[in-house]
Amino acid sequence: MDQADSRSLPSGRPPGPQDPTGRDALRRRRVVDFALRRRDVLAQLREGRLSLREVCDADVYLLRAAGFHGVPTETACPVCRKENLAEVSWIFGDDLGSASGSARGADEIQQLALAHDAFTVHVVEVCRSCSWNFLVESYEVGLPEGTGRRTRRAARALRHRG
Ligand SMILES: [Zn+2]
Repeated sequence: MDQADSRSLPSGRPPGPQDPTGRDALRRRRVVDFALRRRDVLAQLREGRLSLREVCDADVYLLRAAGFHGVPTETACPVCRKENLAEVSWIFGDDLGSASGSARGADEIQQLALAHDAFTVHVVEVCRSCSWNFLVESYEVGLPEGTGRRTRRAARALRHRG
């Protein structure tokens, strides 16, 4: 067995200096679960204190993102029951540049987390039948504050040398 070969890092995946496997960057921090609030909103809807118009207000952009980046769930829409919900992940962070504020798939989020300062992910469930949408979870992934730019520069240098 050639030891050097088996130890070589996969290309295109810049590891942080203190985090050679990227495990810390991918670990979800500051996880907030909004299940209680969701239950409350659905209760208010049933009791007529909220209208359908107020809660089923996904705009075209969100519905389209659900089609492109949505991860299908096993959960039926709690409002119309016509289809299962899709979960869309939106990312927000200064170090993301123009990617901030966009919807991304799980693979893209992992790649971005390995090369950018910590950013926030908002997971929104969406029903494409009735436009129900709700922020169900938020969390943070990414490199320690201030190390993203350096990591990307090191990765570029590696590629150019390679
Ligand atoms: Zn629905």
